Amino acid sequence: MTDTPASGHWASGHCLCGSVCFEIRGKPVWVGHCHCQSCRRNTGSAVATFVGLRSAQVTYTAGERHFFESSPGVRRGFCRDCGTPLTYEADKFPDETHLYLCTLDNPQDYVPAFHVFFSEKVAWFDTADDLPRHQQTSNSPTM
Ligand SMILES: [Zn+2]
Ligand SMILES: [Zn+2]
Repeated sequence: MTDTPASGHWASGHCLCGSVCFEIRGKPVWVGHCHCQSCRRNTGSAVATFVGLRSAQVTYTAGERHFFESSPGVRRGFCRDCGTPLTYEADKFPDETHLYLCTLDNPQDYVPAFHVFFSEKVAWFDTADDLPRHQQTSNSPTM
């Protein structure tokens, strides 16, 4: 099947100012919400929703990311011009790029399937879904 916007397996996206633009192709490995404190601080938001991809599925078509090492072996990519957080990459997930979902132009086409680090969730925040709510990583028990 050809990866097109209509197939739901193609998307473009960009940072807030448009300096960094990218395209993703193919079916994501996973889509999920992260409630961990680091992602919340990185985005300034109550929850960070990611599209998990093989790094080869992502093409940067304009600009380039800059990186901040948020913990040893973890690199968070962002636009230096506008500060938009774009990606998470880690030594423990070689060849993977975890892209912040709402930098895509069609975020509605990528539907989350789970929550991780639910134990760190802000108490007043909740979502109306029946998705698995893992205490920590997706291998950890649900709560
Ligand atoms: Zn920007
Ligand atoms: Zn996180």
